[in-house]
Amino acid sequence: MKGRTRVNHPPDVIVPADNHPLVGPIYQSVKFAFESLEETIRAYRGDRPGFFYARNSNPTTRQLEKLLAELQGRDDCIALGSGVAAISSCLLSLTRAGDHVLCFVETYGPSRQLIRGLLGRFGVQHTMLSIEDDAGIERVLAERPTRLVWFESPTNPVTRIANLGRITQAAHANGALTVLDNTFAGFHNHGQYGIDVFVHSLTKYASGHGDVMGGAIIARDELVRVMRRETIELGALLDPHAAFLVMRGMKTYYLRHEAQTASAARIAVFLEKHPAVARVHYPGLAAHPRHALAREQMHDFGSIVSFDLVGGLDAARVFSDALEFFAISPSLGSVESLVMPAPLLRPGGLGAEQLALSGIGDGSVRLSIGIEDTDDLIADLDAALGRVSEA
Ligand code: PLP
Repeated sequence: MKGRTRVNHPPDVIVPADNHPLVGPIYQSVKFAFESLEETIRAYRGDRPGFFYARNSNPTTRQLEKLLAELQGRDDCIALGSGVAAISSCLLSLTRAGDHVLCFVETYGPSRQLIRGLLGRFGVQHTMLSIEDDAGIERVLAERPTRLVWFESPTNPVTRIANLGRITQAAHANGALTVLDNTFAGFHNHGQYGIDVFVHSLTKYASGHGDVMGGAIIARDELVRVMRRETIELGALLDPHAAFLVMRGMKTYYLRHEAQTASAARIAVFLEKHPAVARVHYPGLAAHPRHALAREQMHDFGSIVSFDLVGGLDAARVFSDALEFFAISPSLGSVESLVMPAPLLRPGGLGAEQLALSGIGDGSVRLSIGIEDTDDLIADLDAALGRVSEA
């Protein structure tokens, strides 16, 4: 074999079946081959296990999918290139012209915009309520045939809590599918409810280190089969290198969650007592309007703490600029703490009434608590709030 052939057909290295690597390898290959055409066709049709082309599936990405499905307590998962890729793939593959989707003013902005804009252009209609309007949700579902109820809990950023029991019951009684964006709560929460589809941004808690983007759709087999066909056509499957990084992050998922949540709980209590703070939004606080419901539904309350500053927008500016350990940055859930003040949190495309319903005011601030020492974080917050009081 000449060199220019050899470099394209390097020697095989066979890892014996009884000698597995403790960390799964990155299968950085787009194509997979069998020894014969017949076996290739059988694999392509799904009549035998195996891989064909990495836009359909790849062993590294598949390992992550199996892990996430198991953690969320459902049959299967599709891992995609970002949280929004998971959201758009799910919305596009589960709806058709003439369908109706129920969503909420608190729904994550790009999801809401996809439902109103992209799906709207393809003839899908929607109704938008507040996630806490249980009676309204039940009324709409009873009155109007609905394909999907699309929601989050806790919501971003003011941590409102959806009543999962009432929503799933009303949806199923009326033939609607429930889709919960479970990014904020995590894989260890909400599996016990009759949610049909979970979506997650893996960019946040799953990868945990702010160095990779990803998304996941998790559901029962029958729904994943439908969505997988179309997600292959939409073309956003997670790349194996990114899947490897998310899997590495997942090894410390529970430890990070515990540490971040414990720190967030202390910080929420600190903020609640501070005179420059008008109101704290954290489901773990007894003063949260749905604290009892959150306690019933969730194992823990997460690491997002939002609050409203007495001094409004000016105070939010001074406060964010004064912080040392909290970067003014999008995203959330990773090891370093972040802050997002009101001008960056305001949802686009809402009318005045809907904006008021969203609960985000001029002085609203969202903190994503990382794994730094809690005493340092509290001292930093205290100093920044001191600057607000001086200003
Ligand atoms: N869902 C929620 C609740 C989010 O907060 C985000 C991002 O902030 C996403 C989905 C989108 O995820 P990604 O940024 O990975 O596309």
